[in-house]
Amino acid sequence: MIEMRAVLLGTGTSYPDPQRVQSGILVEDGDRRVLLDIGSGVLHRLTQLEIDFRTIDSVFISHFHIDHCADFLPLCQSLWLSGHNKTLYIFAPPTVKEWSRGVFEIAFKYLREKISIETTILDENHVIPRGNLTVITSPTLHGTYDTRAFRVEHNGKSLTFSSDTAPCRDIIDLAKDTDVLIHECNWLDGPHPEGVHTSPSELAKITEEINPSKIVLTHLSPEVVANRDKVIEIVSRRTNAEVVLGEDLMVLEL
Ligand SMILES: [Zn+2]
Ligand SMILES: [Zn+2]
Repeated sequence: MIEMRAVLLGTGTSYPDPQRVQSGILVEDGDRRVLLDIGSGVLHRLTQLEIDFRTIDSVFISHFHIDHCADFLPLCQSLWLSGHNKTLYIFAPPTVKEWSRGVFEIAFKYLREKISIETTILDENHVIPRGNLTVITSPTLHGTYDTRAFRVEHNGKSLTFSSDTAPCRDIIDLAKDTDVLIHECNWLDGPHPEGVHTSPSELAKITEEINPSKIVLTHLSPEVVANRDKVIEIVSRRTNAEVVLGEDLMVLEL
């Protein structure tokens, strides 16, 4: 049986960082390749891996903050210029409707005629089969922004990607007993706006209930990276799971 693997393409935030591009994860099983988010730099990371962008089956966009979708247009342009003639499937929250209209009917009309895109609006809790991969969504708690987290299952194994979120019941339920939890850790402990992102102590509080085998931190701001040992120590307090800081091009085999 072909196994699933994930490659972290971007583990950074909106701030430019030479080591970390914006949000993106490649998930593949030897049959399908899907992207979870496609922030700025993700397309470049794919080429670094010598992965042909034309082999991407579908793109799941967690939300329409720029650091999660900025490379979608460069991907479209590349597909056009390479003469790609297959359909690219995009899955995203309801905002995708207005976004698509702005992009393909107003700003970059020429692209719409050049490539084939099929768009599916993600419900809050949606189950989407892509070949032998199954993608399950839940809403997250990310300010007022309609956002989705993703759990990808394959042959009894799973990974769960929080996207951008503060700790919330939906994420705990989606991620329950997942093998690999890829969770955002945007900032250090301290006073922050409520209900937007997750700090190390906040993440530590939900790890016991989620019970993952491994925790990979992502959406890492420079101050989190600069305090990596402390951050890992805090997140590890209530879990036996291995806790690591994600790095661009890190491979996770499941
Ligand atoms: Zn966001
Ligand atoms: Zn973000």
